[in-house]
Amino acid sequence: MFLNQKKIILGNWKMNQNLDQVRSFFEELETFGDISQGICPQAPYLSILENIRPKIGNFLVGSQNISSEASGAFTGETSIQTLSDFSSNFTLVGHSERRQLFHENDELLIKKINLSMEHGVGVVFCIGETLEQRESNRVNEVLSAQLTNVLPKVQNLKPELTCIAYEPVWAIGTGKTATAKQAVEAHRMVKSIISNSLPAKFSKTPILYGGSVKPSNAQELLENPEISGALIGGASLKASDFNEISRIAANIQA
Ligand code: PEP
Repeated sequence: MFLNQKKIILGNWKMNQNLDQVRSFFEELETFGDISQGICPQAPYLSILENIRPKIGNFLVGSQNISSEASGAFTGETSIQTLSDFSSNFTLVGHSERRQLFHENDELLIKKINLSMEHGVGVVFCIGETLEQRESNRVNEVLSAQLTNVLPKVQNLKPELTCIAYEPVWAIGTGKTATAKQAVEAHRMVKSIISNSLPAKFSKTPILYGGSVKPSNAQELLENPEISGALIGGASLKASDFNEISRIAANIQA
């Protein structure tokens, strides 16, 4: 799913979009053969996406979250089995909002990724430093801990189901984007941490950038070969913006 070397443009809708907005987004959505695209809606909409999503292999549907438990007495949670029944190709794991607001720790993230691998569901594993960590020159240390405390401990981590999203916390939903230079530096760090901590078969793991990506900054970020694509929050809510970023990625890819 993630190893085809195409740019990957993913939208994380968070707790946004009502039913009408979901439908009109998919009416306006444009797909591009040269890239992979995907959307993570709120979980209940996954069921209608089965009918209205583009039925092409390079369009992915994702969950924003999964339970760390397979089934049972966990009121309010959604299981990986349910999500994959509704054609979720992948799930986000470790998004900074989950880490900060819901106190998700490494142990929980390992359990979620284990379940995803067991069910053949891809994982976009999100990592990133806070502003304070960046200003105290701890980016490499933070990214290294976030990656090595989790990925090498997953049972049967599969390269084709693994994708990383580097999302500096200070750039998420703030309108502040990392400069292309900052993003490329961080992506190189991630690549080197992966090569030192995971088997060689993970050397082509895609690394997406996330943090206030929009049509006006997509070109300067995505044109760098280190940046395999984008995880987009706010700008993925409007089909015209998502289409424009996708078009930029497709032109770079072509
Ligand atoms: C995100 O939520 O993953 C994200 C990158 O959001 P935004 O694009 O709004 O900064």
